[in-house]
Amino acid sequence: MSEEKSLNFIEEIIEKDIENNVHNGWVQTRFPPEPNGYLHIGHSKSICLNFGLAKKYYGKCNLRFDDTNPEKEEVEYVESIKEDIQWLGFQWDNEFYASDYFDKLYDFAVTLIKKGLAYVEDASSEEMAKLKGTPTAPGSDSPCRSRNVEENLDLFTRMKNGEYADGTRVLRAKIDMAHDNMIMRDPVIYRIKHTEHHRTGNAWCIYPMYDFAHGQSDSIEEITHSICTLEFIPHRDLYNWCIEKLEIFPSRQYEFARLNMSYTLMSKRKLLTLVNEKFVEGWDDPRMPTISGFRRRGYTPESIREFCDKIGVAKRDNMIDTSLLDFCLRDHLNQIALRRMAVLDPIKLVITNYPAHITEEFLEAENNPEDIEAGYRSLPFGNELWIERTDFMEDAPKKYFRLGPGLQVRLKSAYIVECHDFKKDEAGQITEVHCRYFPESKSGHDTSGIKVKGTIHWVSCAHAKDAEIRLYDRLFTVENPAASEEELKDILNPDSLHIIPNAKIEPALLNASRTDKFQFLRLGYFCLDKNSVVDKLIFNRTVGLKDSWAKENKQ
Ligand code: ATP
Ligand code: MG
Repeated sequence: MSEEKSLNFIEEIIEKDIENNVHNGWVQTRFPPEPNGYLHIGHSKSICLNFGLAKKYYGKCNLRFDDTNPEKEEVEYVESIKEDIQWLGFQWDNEFYASDYFDKLYDFAVTLIKKGLAYVEDASSEEMAKLKGTPTAPGSDSPCRSRNVEENLDLFTRMKNGEYADGTRVLRAKIDMAHDNMIMRDPVIYRIKHTEHHRTGNAWCIYPMYDFAHGQSDSIEEITHSICTLEFIPHRDLYNWCIEKLEIFPSRQYEFARLNMSYTLMSKRKLLTLVNEKFVEGWDDPRMPTISGFRRRGYTPESIREFCDKIGVAKRDNMIDTSLLDFCLRDHLNQIALRRMAVLDPIKLVITNYPAHITEEFLEAENNPEDIEAGYRSLPFGNELWIERTDFMEDAPKKYFRLGPGLQVRLKSAYIVECHDFKKDEAGQITEVHCRYFPESKSGHDTSGIKVKGTIHWVSCAHAKDAEIRLYDRLFTVENPAASEEELKDILNPDSLHIIPNAKIEPALLNASRTDKFQFLRLGYFCLDKNSVVDKLIFNRTVGLKDSWAKENKQ
């Protein structure tokens, strides 16, 4: 049953435009990342929206690298961004770079100068700031404002030719020093930067400001609906002014609320600090809120897309609980994950009445009860099994439906056992649990008539393999790390990574591949880590089976 979903406000705008035959009903969007870091979960919201709208309305979506700032951009980031978008399940129609437009943008600037709508400013940024006024008081004209066209053209050409040092001159749009919107008070549109660019090398020593590059790039690509986040609302006046004065394709800007998530940071700059200061292993550390981090941790693109769909498109800033993403994730993993068994903190269970002549027994175990087609696997059983230490108690309380002297449980996909003895070491630690099994209680063929309340997981000692298992907790201790006054290192959760070096896993896991998703029974969802090798298997816990955090915090 599919639910009829109401349109979000951007879809409403688009449908109206289509109805009115604006741009002949054509829809062209773009996703415009600055290649100065890896994409984070917030970007996936923008990706789903831009690519999703293009798809829904039979339009196109470009990937445009907003690479007008030569200092912070790197090829590594470009590559990672492309990989992440494709992993999320989207394909761009064109790959563009704002830096490819440097010639055109320069010509646009010259056009403005010729129209008497731009001038070269000699004042320093401090001096300019002084003349800018305040939101309640108008600014005042700089002496350079009255320069004539010839002089401006000459100076701008010399800026381009590298005759001036960084910061000594800028090009400003000549708009209105008393405008209500401070951004419209003769904004800087070009600055001098003698810095090499990752694509254009040393061809340029002047670079356009964001506001002069973004809208014009949209226009060049004939973007019909340019979607951005709310902080760009004050920039819309300038966006429209440039388009109007340059008489270029009338792209329109629409703003939606950026995704904010509890216990998560979404600033590339701060995420870069975590990487540089080695608080995490890298951009794709499974604790990072980056798309590559989520991928390595075992999140699925389907669950992230579902999450973005569920949160919708808001016009006002809000904070989304991380548990919503995990809800979408569990929902998807439950459908696709192969069920396997692993024991994190093993103690030995010995079946004392297991026939001595049986050296090996193979049981049939379901791969996924949610998916019949996933079939069955062969699961080795024997007289010695690993079980979790927490599944045995010497003095079990009443409602403990696991093992203890005299208690019975079912071993998942195997037999019912009853504990009759156990062994301890000198320190009082349990070392062995001794049980009898009921041969006629075999799963799927149970004729024993015995009813038990608990089922536990296990791994046959003779067949178990060792693996390292990494359990994760949230990276930050505060709900809104972005707003925290404290330094990043002081709000990091010291227990965000817990490594179990020698867990016992069932042999079917030896064939695991990087794309497989597993549910380790009763422990959560897991995947192979990228650093896992045949001799040393490493599994990441993607997410637990239940939202244990929410429960703990309610108490
Ligand atoms: P950051 O501050 O993390 O660097 P940014 O906005 O500068 O983020 P860009 O690379 O410029 O990052 O972003 C590309 C696109 O993704 C932009 O259209 C931006 O509005 C959008 N975007 C960035 N962060 C979010 C977010 N948290 N929620 C929704 N969209 C976002
Ligand atoms: Mg940005």
